[in-house]
Amino acid sequence: MSDITVVGAGFVGLSFALAAGRQGFTVEVFDRKSRPEATDQLSSNVLAINPASQDFLDSEGVWQEIEPEFRAPYDSMSVVDGNGTGVIHFSASESGLAQLGYVVDQTALLGALVARSDDCENVSVHWQSDADVAPGRSSLLVGADGAHSQIREKLGLRKIGFSYDQTATVCLAETAEPHGQCARQWFLEKGPLAMLPLSDPHRVAVVWSCFDSLAELEDEAFLSSLYEASEGEMGEIREVGPRSGFPLRQQHALQYVTEGVALMGDAAHAIHPLAGQGANLGFADGRTLVAELIAGRVEGRSPGSLGVLKRYQKKRMRENYLTAFAMEGFHRLFTSNELIVGVLRSQGLRFFDSSARLKQIMIGAASG
Ligand SMILES: Cc1cc2nc3c(=O)[nH]c(=O)nc-3n(C[C@H](O)[C@H](O)[C@H](O)COP(=O)(O)OP(=O)(O)OC[C@H]3O[C@@H](n4cnc5c(N)ncnc54)[C@H](O)[C@@H]3O)c2cc1C
Repeated sequence: MSDITVVGAGFVGLSFALAAGRQGFTVEVFDRKSRPEATDQLSSNVLAINPASQDFLDSEGVWQEIEPEFRAPYDSMSVVDGNGTGVIHFSASESGLAQLGYVVDQTALLGALVARSDDCENVSVHWQSDADVAPGRSSLLVGADGAHSQIREKLGLRKIGFSYDQTATVCLAETAEPHGQCARQWFLEKGPLAMLPLSDPHRVAVVWSCFDSLAELEDEAFLSSLYEASEGEMGEIREVGPRSGFPLRQQHALQYVTEGVALMGDAAHAIHPLAGQGANLGFADGRTLVAELIAGRVEGRSPGSLGVLKRYQKKRMRENYLTAFAMEGFHRLFTSNELIVGVLRSQGLRFFDSSARLKQIMIGAASG
């Protein structure tokens, strides 16, 4: 019998399994999808990875497995109030950092996690598995099975949440102007649009969270909406990849743990992608749980011990709520079309942009 069973071999479940396996815990992972295939093509799905997650992936030997063209650094960020006049610029050098983060291809990241897990003798992954995994199979059962977690539902761990009535449309695009390693975001009445720089200086990953569905628009109409929304800043934009859409929800489990069970990643909390923090919070969940399992082992406690798991919950729940709360504040502030909110927003952004201290605090929080 293994020490830990994980349901869900997504970014969060696999990285946790690998980190726990490398610390000497035996881990079995089950996922219903098939084993991801290695590819040399960029996918249209990316993740913005903060420095703390990058450090974690680096220390687990995952980062080195990702070819440089699939992980592009960004060293500045601009946030534009598309409904007003405010704008904020952040740069890595202002905070003494080499970069603010990386934009990583999701398929390449998953492939690197799979390769590292294959090399770890304490970890075994069962793909295309329909196994009905129940608590008691191991000392600890981890639900890392995403926002629609069956583990959470089966165990009756209650959640609260709501739909944003927005769909995030994602695709890759080619721009006439070079991105200059800057991650750009425009807050529009329709919803936030992000253009994240890729390793090619003229390619960006587009994430546009919108009340209208943009995935079905004719190419020409989509490209002209994109050009207009980005205020022509990137010059002419040519779509280079297929578009896909993701309905957006905010959701929180009211309890992450019970005796022998822990939730992590989107199974515990799903937030709006406007600041690219969902997977980063999930990586932090995994890191924290491994640290608590090691502390528990020193105290002679088993991985499923409720005392150990409660320490994990205490550390992660507060931070996850605070991040969700901040994202929600941004979302409401920027989607409001009330005149007074618009004026305050523009003034506030200008004040923020002139304050190096406030920007440093914000970068520190976003860096994990
Ligand atoms: C448009 C968009 C953009 C985003 N951008 C960013 C970003 O830039 N940065 C960032 O940090 N986050 C971002 N996020 C959030 C991020 O994608 C998620 O937080 C992250 O993927 C969650 O990972 P996870 O492993 O918890 O869940 P998932 O990625 O959902 O993985 C769950 C896994 O569980 C498996 N599974 C599910 N049910 C079962 C079952 N019953 N049995 C077995 N296996 C099962 C699934 O097959 C899957 O492999 C974005 C989200 C969206 C929608």
